[in-house]
Amino acid sequence: MKNLDALKEVLATPKKIVITTHRNPDGDAMGSSLGLFHYLSRRGHDATVISPSRYPSIFDWMPGIDYVVVDDDQKEKSDKLCEEADLFFCLDFNSLARIDRVGERIAESDKPKVMIDHHLDPDPFAEYMYSDPTASSTCEMLYEFIKMMGHKDMIDDVIGKSIFTGILTDTGSFMFATSPKLFRTVADLHEVGVDLTYLQNKLFNNQNEKQLRLLGFCLTEAMRMYNNFNTGIIVLSLHDHKRFRIKRGDTEGIVNYVLKMRHMRMAILVCERENHVKLSFRSKGEFSVQEIAQKYFKGGGHRNASGGVSYETLGDTLRALKELLEVYKEPLNAEPDF
Ligand code: 5GP
Ligand code: MN
Repeated sequence: MKNLDALKEVLATPKKIVITTHRNPDGDAMGSSLGLFHYLSRRGHDATVISPSRYPSIFDWMPGIDYVVVDDDQKEKSDKLCEEADLFFCLDFNSLARIDRVGERIAESDKPKVMIDHHLDPDPFAEYMYSDPTASSTCEMLYEFIKMMGHKDMIDDVIGKSIFTGILTDTGSFMFATSPKLFRTVADLHEVGVDLTYLQNKLFNNQNEKQLRLLGFCLTEAMRMYNNFNTGIIVLSLHDHKRFRIKRGDTEGIVNYVLKMRHMRMAILVCERENHVKLSFRSKGEFSVQEIAQKYFKGGGHRNASGGVSYETLGDTLRALKELLEVYKEPLNAEPDF
């Protein structure tokens, strides 16, 4: 990380710090934000986590979650915190445009910004930038960051649980983006008492009946197969959202099921919202959904997991996707590299 010594200097005296992460926060966003929150608080800083939108209830158990300020619900409080902050940490995203209102507040501020992030193509908006697209997760990078600050010994069960949460969710429980270094980090977390089975149960065996029945609906009725393109698209209309009373986080992980079919190279989840359509992309092997999300849907992410948005109607969005399948027909039909 560049400017590490200067940042150490900044953090040597108590500061008012805003930690923020991306809209619709996932395990890595929440884990890295809360892990950093505990670390900075213990060092005597006045730190607050601002999430642009509400977090899924699956994270309710996380230590420190009750202190998180949700910008959508608490705009005044969030504005005041941004106004008074001496320093901003931006975690698990790399462009202020991704965090809407909070991003505007941060862009307006002349106070320094720290970015810790593992997505491709970072915007260079931060004075202190720690970007590593080879990292499994922002949480893995947070572990490195605390180590670089010289405080590895401060990583205990509480900070460890936060860090392990993002590692587990972003790697799909060690299915992708792993490295020898990651397993060494995880060994260290195990050593300080982080219980993997506890976390697995909290994160992956913690659904309600409605969520499981929604998965059933997605696979039996809402999934459209495009076998000529080795692609499956799950479509959830506004009507489906009402019928299943779908809330934030309820569709998490569903898109991955499409890739369980041997021949599938790309999976897309298309969710119709009130004034836009949200898209989630997944792929296997070298085929990059990041390119598609970035080029056509104002989004991005990683090679095998990306997201984006469309402001067309649901019908037009689906037509555009079908045209894209034609564009990518050749790579979608290449000899499997997975
Ligand atoms: P998900 O499909 O689970 O929402 O997101 C998968 C990955 O794509 C995550 O790494 C996430 O950060 C990224 N992503 C999702 N939506 C967007 C978006 O609208 N813009 C950008 N730049 N990245 C996104
Ligand atoms: Mn992440």
